[in-house]
Amino acid sequence: MPSSIEKYLKDHIAAHGPMDVGQFMSIALSHPEFGYYMKRDPFGRGGDFTTAPEVSQMFGEMIGVWCADVWMQMGSPKKFTLLECGPGRGTLMADILRATNGVDGFRDAVDVHLLEISPVLKQKQIETLDDFEVTHHETLEDVPNAPLIVVANEFLDALPFRQFAKLKSGWAERVVTEDFKFGLKPAINSFIPKEFQSAKEGEIFESAPARVSFVKNVSELLRKNTGVALFIDYGHAKSGLGDTFQAIHKHKYAGVLEHIGDADLTSHVDFEALKQAADINVYGPVEQGAFLKDMGIEIRAQILASKTEPTDVLNALKRLTDSSQMGSLFKVMGLSHGDAVTPSGF
Ligand code: SAH
Repeated sequence: MPSSIEKYLKDHIAAHGPMDVGQFMSIALSHPEFGYYMKRDPFGRGGDFTTAPEVSQMFGEMIGVWCADVWMQMGSPKKFTLLECGPGRGTLMADILRATNGVDGFRDAVDVHLLEISPVLKQKQIETLDDFEVTHHETLEDVPNAPLIVVANEFLDALPFRQFAKLKSGWAERVVTEDFKFGLKPAINSFIPKEFQSAKEGEIFESAPARVSFVKNVSELLRKNTGVALFIDYGHAKSGLGDTFQAIHKHKYAGVLEHIGDADLTSHVDFEALKQAADINVYGPVEQGAFLKDMGIEIRAQILASKTEPTDVLNALKRLTDSSQMGSLFKVMGLSHGDAVTPSGF
């Protein structure tokens, strides 16, 4: 076994040649021994970044209201699967379950399933959700057959993506070389949508087949079991050009090929590509600020502010909903199968 992630990557590149950005990201984040997510709890002040559920309980409560509403529209099934993909510390799920506690029949009906690869975070999720029996999965394949509600916050951005650069001579794929620099290799044009084929020299196009397949697989599960899904992530509603590869290390942007295995690597999610992949009903994407307001976050904030430190509540509300913060960059997309359910917030 190599002694470090750098050694592992160097050996791999020496044997197989420069690797595409997606392979690099996938190893850096999820190598069983050295991968970023596999060995730490990356959230909060002592970690590298803070997500919406970690900003305030109000976020998860609004998602809880959304889940209760779709569950009732589904006919309040006596048993259903609530699946969260990439649950981090389990905070969002805990807030959903607390917010829905008073909804008649919901708690008896819910069967909590979590899709997670990190052993450290699986353990953390079990601790956070200790009032519930949770079932962990590493793939969607063994999710049971039952009516289904899926939620995922900042999950898709963690799945690998690839980058293509326009040169004078045509498109080339960006690869990572043995000395951890970017290189290029010839690319097959079919990765580039028609509208971008003749982009200017120097432009970057990003494609994320792993995200597209994931959304396709979720659509299939929904078609098979009936149900709805909610994806929340930062990204753009329309496909575009540009380099959005980013590394976050200790709450600061870092070079994407630095701190390998110790920095979170992501890119913006192309919701248009995902919309095209889902061949069931798609809602949105809408901006997170608008979605949360539609779900009643401002009223919830007023109530909370009267019970706790109002400045903290109002700051959190602003952080989650204001366009200058998470309100516009983050988008919300819904999926549903059949006409029986119209998810709210869109
Ligand atoms: N939803 C959480 C955490 C987001 S970070 C929040 O909002 O706070 C991304 C999460 O996805 C982590 O829990 C990470 O371990 C998990 N993850 C990353 N890649 C994954 C994969 N391929 N399969 C399952 N889980 C994955």
